[in-house]
Amino acid sequence: MVRGIVPRQPAKTGRQERARTERSLTKTGVARPDRPGQRPGPTQVRRSARAATKLTPPRASKGYNPVAPERIAEILKRLDQLYPDVTCALTHKSAWELLVATILSAQSTDANVNRVTPELFRKYPTVADFAALTPEQLEPDVRSTGFFRNKSKSVVGAAKKIVSELGGQVPDDMDKLLTLPGVARKTANVVLGTWFHKAEGIVVDTHVTRVARRLELTKNTDAPKIEQDLMRVIPREKWILFAHQLIWHGRKLCVARRPKCVDCALENICHAGDKTWTTVEIHKNAKL
Ligand code: SF4
Repeated sequence: MVRGIVPRQPAKTGRQERARTERSLTKTGVARPDRPGQRPGPTQVRRSARAATKLTPPRASKGYNPVAPERIAEILKRLDQLYPDVTCALTHKSAWELLVATILSAQSTDANVNRVTPELFRKYPTVADFAALTPEQLEPDVRSTGFFRNKSKSVVGAAKKIVSELGGQVPDDMDKLLTLPGVARKTANVVLGTWFHKAEGIVVDTHVTRVARRLELTKNTDAPKIEQDLMRVIPREKWILFAHQLIWHGRKLCVARRPKCVDCALENICHAGDKTWTTVEIHKNAKL
């Protein structure tokens, strides 16, 4: 090696880091994180937001309407591309099994419920079998789904009412479903939409709430108002699929903590206040 010429070593102080960050801007000036999912530094976000104002319609600006028909159509189009044929993840073979699984899914995961229900329905195959139980008898079978005392009461109570007053059949009617113990609009919408293919409303769970708020489709935080907001802007023929799409999106990418915005096909039309990466202006209040 020629005397005096020494290969460059990385600075121990990390001072070269800044240059690396600057280089991570693409030719278009849009910031790229160094690793997928890595949150960009403040410099990157500011630069990318500036660059994006030149690049990316619809731009957040005065008069911006998050529920404008063309924006809704674009959201629906992209969701269709991402999740063309998603449906309920709770395994079931009848309206009754779906009703029970949905009641058990409150404050639990679908995977957790799916671990419990096969054995549960082997042990008690019919609505009448459940109606013959006391809630205490059912508790051990549903304990692992959490809140098992209330859930046992709801399932047994619903079974007794279906057997004694509704001819042994789960009703395909919103008003009748809402008379069953433990059944509110979310559960009723799951059963009506998924099993009976009836669009009476939109399922609003924790995922739908989070994604709808981030996409500025609602400013509300309670489920009935969110459902009304969504029913106003989403075409009725999309209600059932749309809810499933938001649930899947909320599970896969738009997760509660550190959403994976860098991988999200909705990124340049999403202004969520808690995005982890952005090419568009942020709206601080658009978050959970
Ligand atoms: S860009 Fe981020 S916050 Fe917006 S919908 Fe996608 S994952 Fe959610």
